[in-house]
Amino acid sequence: MGLKGKTALVTGSTSGIGLGMARALAREGANLVLNGFGDAAEIETLRAGIAKDCGVEVAYSGADMSKPDQIAAMIAEAEARFGAIDILINNAGIQHTAVIDEFPDEKWDAILAINLSSAFHTVKAALPKMRARGWGRIVNTASVHGLVASSEKAAYVAAKHGIVGLTKVIALDTAGSGITCNAICPGWVLTPLVQKQVAARAERDGQSLPDAKAALLEEKQPSKDFVTEEQIAGLACFLCSEAADQMTGVSIPIDGGWTAQ
Ligand code: NAD
Repeated sequence: MGLKGKTALVTGSTSGIGLGMARALAREGANLVLNGFGDAAEIETLRAGIAKDCGVEVAYSGADMSKPDQIAAMIAEAEARFGAIDILINNAGIQHTAVIDEFPDEKWDAILAINLSSAFHTVKAALPKMRARGWGRIVNTASVHGLVASSEKAAYVAAKHGIVGLTKVIALDTAGSGITCNAICPGWVLTPLVQKQVAARAERDGQSLPDAKAALLEEKQPSKDFVTEEQIAGLACFLCSEAADQMTGVSIPIDGGWTAQ
């Protein structure tokens, strides 16, 4: 695929989908900047493991994606070390569910900041060096919830619809410059973010965890199977390839048929 010598920054890559995408990009030869929260020793094990297995350089930034000054510092550090960020994956995200009448203000603010505004800040900071190189790939992890809604997810659905719109604007603002911007819209993926929703559902409905998982899939995802991190990573790698040079501004579902209904 020819990502050797490129540098990829993946926000929220200490877990789940982001970690899957980071690993796949490193396997294609890209140097990495990992980002996200977690136990410092576990993150160091991850960082060193990917570097050794893939023969690439891997840096880590603990920047909080809800803080624009920390985002600016993360991009500046990455550029100082690697020259430019060639591949920017905006993936960090959190979830909170509650009916809108009871939705906590601070959760609204945090979800909008992490799941949407962080992508504005990373793109704005990383674009000048991408433009100078005449090549770049921006991939935003949106969600099926960027295309359709579910109840009790006011902030998440608003942020994900927002990132689908932002993806289109970035595509137009960069068209013809060698830079593309697209979004991936996954259905259910069994990451820690969804495991919490399965556990809440099991408690609410008095179900076992396997029954709650099956019910969650049954309700929305016609394939009745989870999407895997590896499948999403495969799509991200495709979007970074030459074959996708003319794909920009699109939001691609990978959702077992969820949004076909
Ligand atoms: P996850 O909880 O496994 O991973 C989230 C990552 O984001 C972690 O690395 C975490 O440390 C990081 N993070 C959280 N807050 C942060 C902050 N303030 N600053 C920096 N990093 C932060 O969840 P996941 O399911 O892998 O989610 C990744 C993305 O995929 C999110 O944007 C999510 O909305 C999206 N998504 C997930 C699913 C799903 O079913 N799991 C479906 C569609 C979209």
